[in-house]
Amino acid sequence: MRLEGELRRALARREFELVWQPQVSLRTGRICGAEALLRWRHAARGIVSPAEFLQLAEETGLIAPITEWALAAACSQGLAWMRRRPGGVRISVNLSPSLFVSRDVRELVTDALAVSGFDPALLDIEITERVLLDKVEEMAATLQSLREIGVSFSIDDFGTGYSSLAHARCFPVQRLKVDQAFVARVASDKADAAVIGAIVSLAHGLGMDAVAEGVETAEQLAALRRLGCDEVQGYLTGRPVPACEAEERARAAQTGSQSDI
Ligand code: C2E
Ligand code: MG
Ligand code: MG
Repeated sequence: MRLEGELRRALARREFELVWQPQVSLRTGRICGAEALLRWRHAARGIVSPAEFLQLAEETGLIAPITEWALAAACSQGLAWMRRRPGGVRISVNLSPSLFVSRDVRELVTDALAVSGFDPALLDIEITERVLLDKVEEMAATLQSLREIGVSFSIDDFGTGYSSLAHARCFPVQRLKVDQAFVARVASDKADAAVIGAIVSLAHGLGMDAVAEGVETAEQLAALRRLGCDEVQGYLTGRPVPACEAEERARAAQTGSQSDI
């Protein structure tokens, strides 16, 4: 109950922040996107990770205003990057499954885009497989209407949920994000490498890209490259950092003409 009260006040006190983690293309070696990850700067506890408060936020319905804030903050940051870098940067925002039950997600996203003036074609929305299991037709219509204005979709933590492989093709999804658990063992366990290989084939067969997350070592990176992954994200290519730090890093990579990996 105490946490719930604190969570309610956190929005008003502007205690939420976004940190950004780069996504790197294995084709070009350059940064091709950035995922926005939520942080709560708590006066006494310091930085609180989403794992510690997202479930409560979902149970109490606070996830809706928190997501509204996160989408707005992400789009306004995206707009700033759009103005500074030709072509802009694709940004990814996570949406909780519970949000799709309680809110009109189409409206939530179009409002954030309209208020910020951010290019919908640079907005990627990360959802989990769970979202695609209920009310399939309604969900497909929601995603399709956003796709029509240019928004893209990624399925997060792919391979761990109740995989709706048959359903995946009914939705306008552009990327499958291979779950970190498989990536962690890709260089040491043949079975995990085989699972990733299958996800990559599935993605490519459906006209999507495969993104590996949680990439920590050069060995994992080499294995993922061999398996045909399109993009990587993880501590190896960059920890999640505040926007200003992300910019500094991107600038440093640009002035040295070498690629980001
Ligand atoms: P996710 O979307 O799958 O994000 C990836 C998580 O892995 C992030 O944890 C990130 O910091 C962490 N990570 C990145 N690279 C590595 C690595 O190389 N090794 C390891 N061990 N971990 C890595 P984080 O930021 O704590 O977020 C946890 C989860 O909370 C996210 O998982 C996402 O599901 C959720 N989340 C984060 N921000 C938001 C948000 O704004 N809205 C919603 N609804 N959920 C969010
Ligand atoms: Mg994510
Ligand atoms: Mg994930």
